[in-house]
Amino acid sequence: MTDTETVAGTGGTAGATTGGESDDELRALAERAGRELEDASALDILKWAAGTFGDRFCVTSSMEDAVVAHLASRALPGVDVVFLDTGYHFPETIGTRDAVAAVMDVNVITLTPRQTVAEQDAEHGPRLHDRDPDLCCALRKVKPLEEGLTRYAAWATGLRRDESPTRANTPVVGWDERRRKVKVSPIARWTREDVDAYVAEHGVLTNPLLMDGYASVGCAPCTRRVLEGEDARAGRWAGRAKTECGLHA
Ligand code: SF4
Repeated sequence: MTDTETVAGTGGTAGATTGGESDDELRALAERAGRELEDASALDILKWAAGTFGDRFCVTSSMEDAVVAHLASRALPGVDVVFLDTGYHFPETIGTRDAVAAVMDVNVITLTPRQTVAEQDAEHGPRLHDRDPDLCCALRKVKPLEEGLTRYAAWATGLRRDESPTRANTPVVGWDERRRKVKVSPIARWTREDVDAYVAEHGVLTNPLLMDGYASVGCAPCTRRVLEGEDARAGRWAGRAKTECGLHA
């Protein structure tokens, strides 16, 4: 699957929103778009989002790679790319963010938690990620993203159905009930090979850790390399039942 595939059946989703829509109207819009854009290319899904939401649309990126940011910049040059700096990232991830900001036609926005790691350690004790990763993710990821997304009506993610069983039913466009926003996953139908092919074709920036045994890159204390035969997210919170940080609940 590539970004050059033709779009089918998108006529019913056409038309820009004004910002005056109710949540019910946006939910209906998202559900209809999800059905109609299921077979559309990633680029056409993003063009739909750009045309529908304009500057009330953003992309979130973990800086594992810049594929969705690159696609979105083609659909909406200068698009906001939101990055959550938890304070626990690998230096390679911060370097990837800085490179994306320097070379791509996007506006990188870095969100930070209310507390620094030191402040969190003082209140909750050190290494909260080992003792209560759900609380750590809530404080350092979920809450800052919720606050950072308030100005937008729609956000795009790089979720793919092949990453893990928990992501197998990801719609290309859906309704994010928790944040009451339209959630766009333009590469939901892509495989790892599709991502690699897009990166190679367009020379897209990727996190150097992907070349060093990491299949999915998150915070350093909660990420390890994957083993042969493991799914891409097996290296996240390894040894724990936790598989998601709560951003996509
Ligand atoms: Fe904390 Fe780990 Fe979640 Fe990062 S991934 S916010 S370090 S628990």
